Amino acid sequence: MKILLPCVWLPIALVAGRVSAQNPDWHREFPAFRVAGNLYYVGTADLAVYLANTPQGNILINSAFPQDLPVIQRSIGKLGFKDSDTKIILISHAHDDHDGAVGQIKKQTGARLMVMEPDVTSVESLAPGRPGARVDRVLHDGDAVELGGAKLMARLTPGHTPGCTTWTMEVREGGRKLNAVIIGSPNVNPGYILVGNKNYPQIAEDYEKTFAVLLKLPVDIFLGAHGSYFGLKEKYEKRKTSNSNPFIDPAGYMAYVSERKDAFRKEWERQKQNPGSPAP
Ligand SMILES: [Zn+2]
Repeated sequence: MKILLPCVWLPIALVAGRVSAQNPDWHREFPAFRVAGNLYYVGTADLAVYLANTPQGNILINSAFPQDLPVIQRSIGKLGFKDSDTKIILISHAHDDHDGAVGQIKKQTGARLMVMEPDVTSVESLAPGRPGARVDRVLHDGDAVELGGAKLMARLTPGHTPGCTTWTMEVREGGRKLNAVIIGSPNVNPGYILVGNKNYPQIAEDYEKTFAVLLKLPVDIFLGAHGSYFGLKEKYEKRKTSNSNPFIDPAGYMAYVSERKDAFRKEWERQKQNPGSPAP
């Protein structure tokens, strides 16, 4: 059954990504842990926040909502890191479940905020639910973010938002070099218009570009903006008893991206047949 949302509510749902705000995992504390090499998980049970540790301080990827900040800070402390050592903040995309607290983190730590160009306006916006944080460095596809020997590459994977970013990073574990990929989002949210979208005319073509990029990236470690993308809970549990690192999962990555591509294509086709009918 399709639920039609009131029109007045749709823009808020679209901008803020609040459609599934009921998900209790969003604000549930989750143990902080090392994913691989110098890359750590410090997010909630579903809102993924990562920390890359370097001798010159830390890079934080995503902030979650302002209300989650105490949980994130506690996780950073439990790993033995200092909140005040956060030097750079990056985001997966400009929705408040990933960037809501970037302004507060900037104020508390003095960290520099770096955002992909098409999402900058939204991050700097003072509209309700937007962080209204000044962006210190505007990023473009293929830009590198470097600190203390760590290097993250920004890949523009648009559609979900125009500046949606997939982060890749090389980590070293047990003498091996591993490619970690943090997917920005391949998802078509409820209310999204793929055909005849006046605010984002090329949205469907952008999703197509994103899937082409994601399917070509070299991947060992499969991560994403939400824990649900890559099976955070299951893999965390498995890691306790397994000798191998379950986050090393290139097959899981390919299966996930392929399934999301099929889901997008199916929804695009449906909207072509039903113009003006947003995603359910
Ligand atoms: Zn989103």
